[in-house]
Amino acid sequence: MDTSPSPIRGQLVDVVNRRIYPAEVHLESGRIAKITQTDRPGNTYLLPGFIDAHVHVESSLLVPSEFARAAVVHGTVATVSDPHEIGNVLGVDGVRYMLDNAAHVPLKICFGAPSCVPASTFETAGATISTAEVAQLLDDPRIGYLSEMMNFPGVLHRDVTVMAKIAAAQQRGKPVDGHAPGLRGDDARRYHAAGITTDHECFTKDEALDKIACGAMISIREGSAARNFDALYTLLDEHPQQCMLCSDDKHPDELQVGHIDVLVRRAVAARIDRFNVLRAACLNPVLHYSLDVGLLREGDPADFIEVDSLDDFRVLRTFIDGQVVAQNGRTTIPRVEPPIVNRFAARERVPADFAVRAKSQRMHVIEALDGQLITRRDIVQPTVVDGLAVADPARDILKLVVVNRYEDAQPAVAFIKNFGLRRGALASSVAHDSHNVVAVGASDEAIFTAVNQVIEARGGLSVVDGQSHHVLPLPIAGLMATGTCEQVAAAYSRLDAAAKELGSRLRSPYMTLSFMALLVIPQIKLSDRGLFDGDRFEFLPLFV
Ligand SMILES: [Zn+2]
Ligand SMILES: [Zn+2]
Repeated sequence: MDTSPSPIRGQLVDVVNRRIYPAEVHLESGRIAKITQTDRPGNTYLLPGFIDAHVHVESSLLVPSEFARAAVVHGTVATVSDPHEIGNVLGVDGVRYMLDNAAHVPLKICFGAPSCVPASTFETAGATISTAEVAQLLDDPRIGYLSEMMNFPGVLHRDVTVMAKIAAAQQRGKPVDGHAPGLRGDDARRYHAAGITTDHECFTKDEALDKIACGAMISIREGSAARNFDALYTLLDEHPQQCMLCSDDKHPDELQVGHIDVLVRRAVAARIDRFNVLRAACLNPVLHYSLDVGLLREGDPADFIEVDSLDDFRVLRTFIDGQVVAQNGRTTIPRVEPPIVNRFAARERVPADFAVRAKSQRMHVIEALDGQLITRRDIVQPTVVDGLAVADPARDILKLVVVNRYEDAQPAVAFIKNFGLRRGALASSVAHDSHNVVAVGASDEAIFTAVNQVIEARGGLSVVDGQSHHVLPLPIAGLMATGTCEQVAAAYSRLDAAAKELGSRLRSPYMTLSFMALLVIPQIKLSDRGLFDGDRFEFLPLFV
């Protein structure tokens, strides 16, 4: 691809100086050589490209090069990305895999050094990223920041290891990302005073205002998992210098439809000042993370987009470093065949592995909540057959299992309600954050088949309905597929539809399933080592 020799004409949206004027933009060697004001008003608009200020690329089930091909179509020119999903599977090698793959495509992905791998000491992850390794990663010029510091109790207690990681970033002049859902008042102040400068977990405006008062940048999140836009978007006008936009997790089917452009459109439709919206979408992340992303000024890298109007923001062309990387809904970035890397040692299971002897008439049950990562803790009477506690779909009490995928171990088994399957089972090797194999099902037979499908594929998503079963293989770390966004989105949509045919009324059954092993989010979750109380941070017996 070569740079465009003739000037690009259009109404130039100067996001820095808040003005719009007809202009000719001259490109040279990937940069903006000259901008001249003209008296020939163009009928399209030129503006800096959109930036996702916090996204785990792995959640798209795509490798960075494929994520890039899908995202540029929607005007995305850069992302700030935490590779901690693959980090939990493969450690520093996983982070390097993302850097190397991303180097093949022009999308400017700013990767962070994962700060919390593993997420807790109560589960088996594939790897640890030590303080020394964090420091080594931060020495790499391709690593732009220390990524989400989820261990907020550790920050509040000024834990030595946690503080050493923060100091390592600060010594290198790199920012530290926050993650402190629900933290308020003095705790929020202490958390941010430790040197943490962002938060993307706010779910109420009051919480965001507390953190803004601490000087934090707020990334307003609207993704496939958590949706906080409606609660927070008015901050864009009230604190325009402290807002960014992000998705955190974006599934392939939704990435195909839109990205940050969707949020820009929604904010403008909700009558937020256009310059404030674009400031959050295009400018603030560049300033905060010192990204090498152009802002449509002379001398800048030629990263910008051409849109049809400032209402619809339909992306006509996306330029990165002067190259046209997308045009009218299609990318021009060539596909890269990704190499396979993985860590998967689980052996095939038998149905008896999932049997549970009933020890009393009262057992703990995890209550799944639609559209939320948190769960509720409840106690119910088990349904007992031949002395065994069994799934009872008529009462919507299903079995939930976690199978350690890094070594051969006995599965952890618990029960879950509100998942809704009337028959069959689902399994997934995407299970935040350790990514063991998690499965839910209406019978031990179905669970065993679903789990073995994933084990056989060495990672993937599976669904079992009677004799029929399907699997979407995720051979790259058990997290990512090798196909294109279109292929993976289609396969994912088929599995999602199959899960709903089994009776689940959850908006996104696989997403809910993937968070049932995330111990750091309350109230009660299942680790590969057993049932876990996320409020008290201790294991919990299944039977009371
Ligand atoms: Zn987070
Ligand atoms: Zn995140």
